[in-house]
Amino acid sequence: MNIQDVQTEIGKYRPGKTWREIAALPCFQGVPAATLCAIYKHGRVPHNPAYLRILGLPVTAPAPVCRQCGQVHVTKRCTARVARPRVRRPSRRKLALDVLRIIYS
Ligand SMILES: [Zn+2]
Repeated sequence: MNIQDVQTEIGKYRPGKTWREIAALPCFQGVPAATLCAIYKHGRVPHNPAYLRILGLPVTAPAPVCRQCGQVHVTKRCTARVARPRVRRPSRRKLALDVLRIIYS
């Protein structure tokens, strides 16, 4: 079920019935007349999860997005593979050997 399906469903009762009468129908019981009107006329998706449940629409919740990639992760770290060059610190051993090579060459 999506918002267009709900609009179609409301549209079946629209001619000849008032918004209050439509809201009183068993399939829309619990959803205010104004909400049904806004869905039908503007395709507005209700925020109230109770209304979403009654209308058979998916219940969603706002989730914070990642600062790096703008996606929603379930992990603490960013899982999007953003190309970020790794800064490799030269090993102390290699530096020591380079110093020795310079001294003894
Ligand atoms: Zn991310």
